[in-house]
Amino acid sequence: MIQSIGYAATDTTSPLAPFRFERREPAAHDVQIDILFCGVCHSDLHQVKGDWGRTHFPCVPGHEIVGRVTRIGSAVSKFRVGDIAAVGCMVDSCRVCPSCAEGAEQYCEKGAVMTYNGPDRHSGGVTYGGYSSNIVVDEAYTLKVPAGLDLAAAAPLLCAGITTYSPLRHWKVGPGQKVGVVGLGGLGHMGVKFARAFGAHVVLFTTSEAKRAEGLRLGAHEVVVSKNRDEMKAHRSSFDFILDTVSANHDITALLGLLRREGTLCQVGLPAEPLPVNVFALVGQRRNFAGSSIGSIAETQEMLDFCGEHNIVCDIERIAIQDINTAYERLQNSDVKYRFVIDMATLVGEA
Ligand code: NAP
Ligand code: ZN
Ligand code: ZN
Repeated sequence: MIQSIGYAATDTTSPLAPFRFERREPAAHDVQIDILFCGVCHSDLHQVKGDWGRTHFPCVPGHEIVGRVTRIGSAVSKFRVGDIAAVGCMVDSCRVCPSCAEGAEQYCEKGAVMTYNGPDRHSGGVTYGGYSSNIVVDEAYTLKVPAGLDLAAAAPLLCAGITTYSPLRHWKVGPGQKVGVVGLGGLGHMGVKFARAFGAHVVLFTTSEAKRAEGLRLGAHEVVVSKNRDEMKAHRSSFDFILDTVSANHDITALLGLLRREGTLCQVGLPAEPLPVNVFALVGQRRNFAGSSIGSIAETQEMLDFCGEHNIVCDIERIAIQDINTAYERLQNSDVKYRFVIDMATLVGEA
């Protein structure tokens, strides 16, 4: 077995703390990766707080992983020792169900194996994520980072990037369309960048007056402070597509009213509580309320390659692993510009 050091939550209220555990020896198709950087997703915070009611403790979060390959199994063809490799939100799936066969393994009918807090068929326990020194993953669930991208700033592409890229592609966002992005956090700032790169007219919705100028800098054509009713009213029934990245309960009906006839509001944010929807806002204009989960492995690679070609990365704040609990407090208060990324070199000397 391989020794690993990470930071784990032991229950829903204690701060994350150093934690030692073991990973499997690489099998024929496995890649062993020394983790260089790991992004901090709001999903990590939801999981640690037990928001979704399904966290197994101890929990080592982290699913925006970039690192260096240190060992490969005998059948690995995608990487050599010394290469850079990336891992996102899932590390396996059943590979035979219709969703897997169609290359949509994030919707695996047996449930994709998530990078942490998922059932680990090798250990019989749960998977441990990227707030750690190393990881062992089947090469089929690993990604290549295009040369030239800053590795720390590329790490959040593995979740914040693909989770916004995939629905914008699925709903064919492009020139001539008016597109809204709700919430300027990790996902939201990438939603703005991608929607802009795809040629749409982009409007950012934020609750924070202080983020108005930031939204424009990141690529939005217009910024609406959603608490301001007059600003909201000016955009009634005008959007083709709205991507909602908000992590907490908020007024969905007000957002639905901004869609034109047959427009779509796609939810990617995952608040702990069900969101109340006034169905009159759907029925009257045959509007759609939809959802989307991360993206497939192939689409994640497509997104990374697109970012390589267009020089798109995330705006990040680099932190030491010892700062993770303070980073969580700031994330809870919507105070991040726009993704925390842990420099895993700071793990040296822990535990
Ligand atoms: P984040 O960085 O914390 O950003 C969320 C943003 O939502 C905040 O910056 C804030 O933006 C806005 N917001 C927060 N509380 C709000 C409230 N009460 N009312 C209105 N707006 C509020 O989080 P993230 O990492 O981008 O993740 C966002 C959500 O997506 C989380 O729920 C996460 O679990 C989920 N997620 C889903 C998937 C998927 O596959 N579907 C993948 C990854 C993450 P403003 O300050 O601009 O208002
Ligand atoms: Zn995530
Ligand atoms: Zn499957």
